[in-house]
Amino acid sequence: MSLKVRDVAALIEKIGDVIEENKEFLTELDAAIGDGDHGLNMNKGFKVVKDKMNSTNIKDIGELFKLVGLTLIATVGGASGPLYGTAFMKGGMAVAGKTEVDMNDFIKIMDEAIKGIKMRGKAEAGDKTMIDALEPAFNALKEGVLKELPAVDILKNAREAALNGVNYTKEIAARKGRASYLGERSIGHQDAGATSSFLMIDAIYEFVKD
Ligand code: ADP
Ligand code: MG
Ligand code: MG
Repeated sequence: MSLKVRDVAALIEKIGDVIEENKEFLTELDAAIGDGDHGLNMNKGFKVVKDKMNSTNIKDIGELFKLVGLTLIATVGGASGPLYGTAFMKGGMAVAGKTEVDMNDFIKIMDEAIKGIKMRGKAEAGDKTMIDALEPAFNALKEGVLKELPAVDILKNAREAALNGVNYTKEIAARKGRASYLGERSIGHQDAGATSSFLMIDAIYEFVKD
């Protein structure tokens, strides 16, 4: 797998499309244990990302990620805007100046992105947040690279791991974010942010598969 700047831009656009297709679903999930704005806010943010990507001359993938991160911070709002924004900003720093990325770069991006989310949100695995989808996906990526699996298989495993993580969020009580106000009453509901993280990984898998 090797993606150039325009491929990564197309991939981010695809992520935006998948968020748009699922905006009602994400919003319903957030309405059950939060304030019901996650899908709408994410969709709004990725729409602006798309416009900015099309109207900006972007030289490298680090710059592209920075643009996405700053735009999400400025437009999504709530908890997830700054968290996803930080993830893209930090992820982009791992590939500063690069005009092409491979699976090893993707691992570096994910590593920095997750560290950024944790630094900003102070959540760990098991707190019922986006981390519960992202961290298992990241572990699957690392394992797949160690085993020298083909990129598509690695991403398929990462997608599976993220989905298992989303399902796990149904079983646990939230310890971070708005859903934590409900405590034990948040059990039985899947986390909206973990779900949007899964959708992003799923979009990456579908993109590389095609
Ligand atoms: P808000 O709750 O401010 O309305 P969103 O609805 O956009 O924000 O996003 C909610 C999602 O953000 C949650 O489902 C959860 O996955 C994620 N989240 C909330 N707080 C944290 C945190 N401290 N660390 C990581 N993720 C978090
Ligand atoms: Mg919300
Ligand atoms: Mg909100």
